[in-house]
Amino acid sequence: MSEVLVLVDHVEGEIKKVTLELLTLARSLGAPSAVWAGPGYSDAARARLAEFGAEKIYVADAEEIAQYVVAPRAELLARLVADRSPAGVLVAATGEGKEIAGRLAVKTDSGVITDAVGVGDGFVADLSIFGGGVNVRSRVTRGTPIIAVRPNATPPVAAPAAGTEEKVALVLSDSARAARVVERVTQEKGGRPELTEAAIVVSGGRGVGSADNFAIIEELADSLGAAVGASRAATDAGWYPHQFQVGQTGKTVSPQLYIAAGISGAIQHRAGMQTSKTIVVINKDAEAPLFEIADFGVVGDLHQVVPRLTEEIRKRG
Ligand code: FAD
Repeated sequence: MSEVLVLVDHVEGEIKKVTLELLTLARSLGAPSAVWAGPGYSDAARARLAEFGAEKIYVADAEEIAQYVVAPRAELLARLVADRSPAGVLVAATGEGKEIAGRLAVKTDSGVITDAVGVGDGFVADLSIFGGGVNVRSRVTRGTPIIAVRPNATPPVAAPAAGTEEKVALVLSDSARAARVVERVTQEKGGRPELTEAAIVVSGGRGVGSADNFAIIEELADSLGAAVGASRAATDAGWYPHQFQVGQTGKTVSPQLYIAAGISGAIQHRAGMQTSKTIVVINKDAEAPLFEIADFGVVGDLHQVVPRLTEEIRKRG
């Protein structure tokens, strides 16, 4: 079976859920090989990657890799593509992942597809474009298919494999050292899951009315173990930090469940959430455009609906 490279997304050695999703997806395309870049590799990491189907694990764990932004990871993958001729490469469609995918495509003279929500036989990728207005299937026709897949595209399913380790000594080029990391700021707030990885997201918009009122959005999120998001109207008003903005100029999320309260449904907001599996809309205006893509809708005042929903969820444990 041909090899499929999966770039491991980790923060200081802690493997993100999206990596397990990519390994699950890779198993349907060939034999998955995980690619570890940066410090933090451990026996526990090896066991986790093997548990989710990594036949091989390429490990380049030099400290130096973490000191530079995305270039070392693109160089590592380019080298493995040249040495191993894999059937394809999967990375997470995060900000960094997409940049790595683009750089890798240039280095290997290959085609790249970003923001896929599924990948099928022959590396045919499903994605939604034009702010979610159109769904398309695309295939790379040149070089090695490089596909950046959105978090939550597929549920992670364990299927133990050998997890044979192979160390890779990476010598960075001068250009890989061009941009150095000076500080890392963690985006978690209140111990909630990371926004782009969360299985459930509860977002508030202008209809929430104030920064203080975001407490009811947070309470609903906490009752569900969800992340909190916000529309640009809410972040621009200073009601919620910009790093939680969902949409074209914010984060792209694709959770199992997206609850939008007091958000009208502008195309720029939809662009960041419309591939969510189930969409629940709470809005006092029955004509709000977001209802068009809702699976469930509540026409009502969110200040009444949201606390009652939280109460009901808490009651049911
Ligand atoms: P509004 O459009 O004002 O909608 C508020 C909604 O709340 C209304 O539907 C109203 O009926 C409802 N409401 C009011 N009170 C209540 C209540 N008590 N109970 C229930 N419902 C109530 N937007 C983003 O979100 N993300 C982006 O990344 C983004 N990027 C952009 C990029 C560009 C280049 C541009 C031009 C715009 C961008 N926008 C983005 C802005 C976008 O066009 C909208 O202005 C924004 O999404 C509107 O936010 P909203 O839905 O919260 O506010």
